[in-house]
Amino acid sequence: MEMIAIDRDFTLVKTSKVHGKGVFAKKNIPKGTRIFEYAGERVQKVNLASDLTRGLTTLIYVMNLNETYAIDGERGGNDSRFINHSCDPNCEVLYFNDTPYIYAIKEIPEGEELSFDYKYGSETDVELTTEQKKEWFPCNCGAENCRGTLLCD
Ligand SMILES: [Zn+2]
Repeated sequence: MEMIAIDRDFTLVKTSKVHGKGVFAKKNIPKGTRIFEYAGERVQKVNLASDLTRGLTTLIYVMNLNETYAIDGERGGNDSRFINHSCDPNCEVLYFNDTPYIYAIKEIPEGEELSFDYKYGSETDVELTTEQKKEWFPCNCGAENCRGTLLCD
C-alpha cells in the first residue's frame, strides 16, 4: 500500500504589490484551514523600546498577545510574519493557549496573497482625527472597503 503524504505547506513568500514581501497560497486553501502559527519569541512589551535601541528588533513584526506580552516574529518567527494587512482580509488570527494562529476565513485560490486585518490600536491616549490616522498610519491595501488606515477605530 502506498503512503500518501499530506502536504500541509500551503504558502510561499515572494514580492507583494501591497508592501515588500507577501505570503501567497501555493495551492487552494480551504476556508477554515489553520495555515500556520504566528511564530516568534514571547517578549515583554515593557522591554520593546530598549530592545529596539539595542538592535534586537525593528518592531515591524510584533503582534500583541496580552497586557504583558507580545510575539516578535523577527526573533524565531516563520513566514507568517510577511503576511500583509488588508481591510478585506482572507485570513484572521485566532488564539489558542495564548498562541496566535493564522486561519483562512474564506477559500483562498492558488496564487492569491494572504492577508489579515492588523487592527492596530493607536497605543496613545491622544484621540487622533481620521485625517491624522490616514496620514500617519496609511493603508494601501487596495480593497474596495479600504478604511485608509491600519488603525481599527
Ligand atoms: Zn486598507
